[in-house]
Amino acid sequence: MQQNEYRQLVERLNHYSKLYYTLDAPEVSDFEYDGLMQQLKAAEAEHPDWVTPDSTTQRVGDAIYTTFEKVEHRVQMGSLQDVFSEEELWAFHERCLAFAPEPAYTVEPKIDGLSVSLEYRDGLFVRGSTRGNGLVGEDVTLNLLTIADIPKKLARPLPYLEVRGEVYMPRSVFQELVTRQLENDEEPFKNPRNAAAGGLRQKDPKVTAGRKLSIFVFNVQQIEGEALATHAGSLDLLKELGFKTIPSYPVFTDFQQVVEEIRRIDADRGQNDFDIDGAVVKINDLSLREQIGATVKFPRWAVAFKYPPEEKETVLREIEIQVGRTGALTPTAVFDSVTLAGTSVSRATLHNQDFITEKGIAVGDTLLVRKAGEIIPEVLKVVRHSGNPVYQIPENCPVCGSRAVRDPDEAVVRCINPACPATRKRAIVHFASRNAMDIEGLGPAMVDLLVDNGLIEDCAGLYQLTAEQLLPFEGVQQKSADNLIAAIRASKGRGLARLLFGLGIRNVGEKAAQLIARHFGNIDALLAVTVDGLWTKKGGSVIPGVGQVIAESLVESFTQPEFRAQIEKLRASGVKLTEEQAETGDALAGKTFVITGTLPSMSRKEAQALIEQNGGKVTASVSKKTSYLLAGEDAGSKLAKAQARGVPVIGEAELMQMTGTETGR
Ligand code: NAD
Repeated sequence: MQQNEYRQLVERLNHYSKLYYTLDAPEVSDFEYDGLMQQLKAAEAEHPDWVTPDSTTQRVGDAIYTTFEKVEHRVQMGSLQDVFSEEELWAFHERCLAFAPEPAYTVEPKIDGLSVSLEYRDGLFVRGSTRGNGLVGEDVTLNLLTIADIPKKLARPLPYLEVRGEVYMPRSVFQELVTRQLENDEEPFKNPRNAAAGGLRQKDPKVTAGRKLSIFVFNVQQIEGEALATHAGSLDLLKELGFKTIPSYPVFTDFQQVVEEIRRIDADRGQNDFDIDGAVVKINDLSLREQIGATVKFPRWAVAFKYPPEEKETVLREIEIQVGRTGALTPTAVFDSVTLAGTSVSRATLHNQDFITEKGIAVGDTLLVRKAGEIIPEVLKVVRHSGNPVYQIPENCPVCGSRAVRDPDEAVVRCINPACPATRKRAIVHFASRNAMDIEGLGPAMVDLLVDNGLIEDCAGLYQLTAEQLLPFEGVQQKSADNLIAAIRASKGRGLARLLFGLGIRNVGEKAAQLIARHFGNIDALLAVTVDGLWTKKGGSVIPGVGQVIAESLVESFTQPEFRAQIEKLRASGVKLTEEQAETGDALAGKTFVITGTLPSMSRKEAQALIEQNGGKVTASVSKKTSYLLAGEDAGSKLAKAQARGVPVIGEAELMQMTGTETGR
């Protein structure tokens, strides 16, 4: 490798690290990243003089996110040295033998989540922080408080304790959230690790709570009031104190058993409700650890054995096209079933035409598939072409036959025929879904029956149904028919927010529907609104959180006669079209704010609107009367002035808290 190639590799890896650690949005798989890191390490071993402090090998994590308070770690939160083969494992053992004739090791699963430190004083949880760059992390105490597994009070009040653990999202929770995201036509999380990392960095702890995160604690960083001799002993103590510790940490002196335990953890990984990306081997004796020491980045007394992701070859038999609620034609690969991460898999999404074209996928090809984040099957590449032409998504909707169109700004092709049965069915299923009108018993199969037999055409038609109409269908008993009709009737009172969400207006998710409904209070005020009434170029959003894209989609729907006709039918059926309006006027009454700098998610105009809606006032300069300075990044002289006058300085997150406003994802 030439030095310029080496520099390019460093830059590329640093770019991936930033995406992964700071933005929780990786662009490449861990496997690919690890492969590039290996190349970098090899180049550095050959040319030690090339290494600069910005090399990826010299850094832990990446830059610190600025939204949270910074925490200087009293004990450095290092990384682990990776090994990829059993040979390297034995070499690690050899190095340890230089320090002790028969070292004892623990072997633990390596949880794929994100590392945090938890601090306790006199037995009470006082602070939690992320690893950050190993020396400085972010204070995420409020978010960690939402994790039920974290004890808030220890079984015994030790004067001081700092532990380290891995926050993760259980696979079952991940699956549930992704299913809901897909139902709501939202971009699903990539894998449990990203969902957990993003969840922990939310400004609003309520959003974190919604991610239902868990933790496994795997180390004592510092302790007062107790003497510890071994790592396994310290984990036993943590268990006693009330922590959920790493699920297994057997101790071995025979290194062959260490290797076997690593194989066992790999073989059993399909059965866990958490993702792992390896196993960690650690010296058990704490004083021996001291002797062996550490580098700036990781301890020398431990190694992480990384498992390769399980990938299989299979033959693509057909490509099915599904028509979504918004009319999107989504191609799904159907292939010979293979076992991955413990389950049998025969389908994977092919996303859109760009994905298919880029990979050159044709029916009959041999594909390489794997489970992304061990959960969602994905097609990696074609390993053998069949010679068939690359698949093209049909130009016509497979359900209604009308011409599908590709939106110039999007990769998806859509059926835009509003009368397409597939679109109508999905729209009704969405309308009935839990977070929309919550009609129990109205799933896809029942909707198929109702639409295919001409009993209903749209969501409004549901409210005309009678139990008698349902009885002729096979398997429908009087009781279940009555229950369904009762559930439909009960849904009339859900209110405008859930109705708006249920109507499936493009870009109007649950949160936006809530904000809009609470702002307008009733459907008539809302139907009269223009885009200008929601968003202007100069003034930004009238309702914080509802931007241009949402405003345009909303108003576009209102102009469609079918949409208005549906609303009228709903009104005639007695469906509630109002929502309690957002309370205004009290939370910030009597308070005067000055705004400065760039806020993380709101424009200054939006922040002003939020303050005013809550009864506060916004003025231009800091004076005796200023109650708070709302400061964002690059705040200049106003910040200095506020500090000099002792005016409290708050950030966007505090403003959100003061006004009880929820943030997005
Ligand atoms: P690491 O994740 O490989 O190992 C260190 C971490 O393991 C610790 O922070 C700790 O929290 C965790 N851990 C889990 N269980 C543990 C246990 N039982 N004992 C001890 N530690 C345990 O190291 P890293 O420096 O955080 O990250 C490097 C890895 O991150 C790479 O190997 C790569 O897979 C991934 N990465 C991927 C990308 C990408 O773009 N895909 C980018 C950067 C990093």
